[in-house]
Amino acid sequence: MVERNSGFANLAQGYLFPEVAKRRREYQAKHPDAKIISLGVGNTTEPLTPHIAGAMASYAKALGTAKGYSGYGDEQGMTELREKIASVVYPKMVSADEVFISDGAKCDIARIQTLFGSKVKIAVQDPAYPVYVDGSVIVGAAGASSKSGHRGVTYLPCTAENNFFPDLTKIKPNSLIYFCSPNNPTGATSTRAELKKLVDFARKNGCIIIFDSAYYSFIRNKNLPRTIYEIPGARKCAIEINSFSKLAGFTGVRLGWSVVPSDLKFADGSSVKQDWNRVMTTLFNGASNIAQAGGLAALDKEGQKETKALVDFYLENAKIMQKTLTGKNFANAGVKVYYTGDSPYLWVKFPGWKSWDIFDKILDECRVVTTPGSGFGPSGESYLRFSSFGHRKDVEEACRRLSKLVL
Ligand SMILES: *Cc1c(COP(=O)(O)O)cnc(C)c1O
Repeated sequence: MVERNSGFANLAQGYLFPEVAKRRREYQAKHPDAKIISLGVGNTTEPLTPHIAGAMASYAKALGTAKGYSGYGDEQGMTELREKIASVVYPKMVSADEVFISDGAKCDIARIQTLFGSKVKIAVQDPAYPVYVDGSVIVGAAGASSKSGHRGVTYLPCTAENNFFPDLTKIKPNSLIYFCSPNNPTGATSTRAELKKLVDFARKNGCIIIFDSAYYSFIRNKNLPRTIYEIPGARKCAIEINSFSKLAGFTGVRLGWSVVPSDLKFADGSSVKQDWNRVMTTLFNGASNIAQAGGLAALDKEGQKETKALVDFYLENAKIMQKTLTGKNFANAGVKVYYTGDSPYLWVKFPGWKSWDIFDKILDECRVVTTPGSGFGPSGESYLRFSSFGHRKDVEEACRRLSKLVL
């Protein structure tokens, strides 16, 4: 018989979202008429904008003509799109040949593991987006699981006490550091000084940062960096992974990119970018050309106007929720809302509550689904994540119900 990849046995059960769905189903079965509203998901809800959808429709239509047809393109992505991303998102920081177009950030986070193999040390923020650790577990880099997580992983608690920026001194030299800002789930967006600390640490200690900036388009505070490459030295120690998913509602369309600077080197002095190019040309065959046409439209003048309005819509939802969650009934119970206006997620602490208990209470009494913070890591205990991805009328109705909650 063929041996199973031992990484799979080490994988912790994908517990969080299936358990949320199960509790929702059970509640609905008991209360068939209840209109449950979800503030729990990280999936976009509003339609594609007209200029961008139109560009994809025209491209698809042209594919049906002899003149407009094209087959395989460059695995690294259309040159025009790579240039557009370099000039619009990373002006004077990154060149087009350092941008690699993909089918999404999650897929790149998975593929990136092939660059480093199973011996690399890993550090992650706690709480964190689950793919960083689970992807490492599958390739055998995270080690066996124990009660306190995987043995090969250094968990970096991010809590209200440290303003959601971790103590970097815990990171072992020569580690891969997964870092997400604006953060899912905490919504925390690192300042320039914080990211400078991170980059300086990585350079001094031989680390590579995998910087997930999938929510960069939500940053409204002009003083906050929108890419790791705004920090001097980052080109020598950081890969950035990014996506059109939250920027333009492409969660279903599928389009992302990664930046691997030419300056980034492995321990033996060889080029990381060269190996990444090999990964993308060998294990990947290019993003959909229709999606790339949409990406191009999203970054032109009209597209930028549209995506800004789209993201503003979700940010407005977040403000509405923030107002409700800082209302009297919550404030009197000591509930603290962590939200700076630069992310789709509100990270809310319910002192004295376990995450799953307050999740159940809000489901029972408000018929509102949230996400238990403890599902993203031990430091998320007693928090809930409220997502601003929702239709306005649903968010408003959820807020009406929440404002009546007795804690
Ligand atoms: C949604 C999300 C992504 C985007 O993933 P895609 O595969 O591009 O849809 C990446 N990272 C984080 C933290 C996310 O929440």
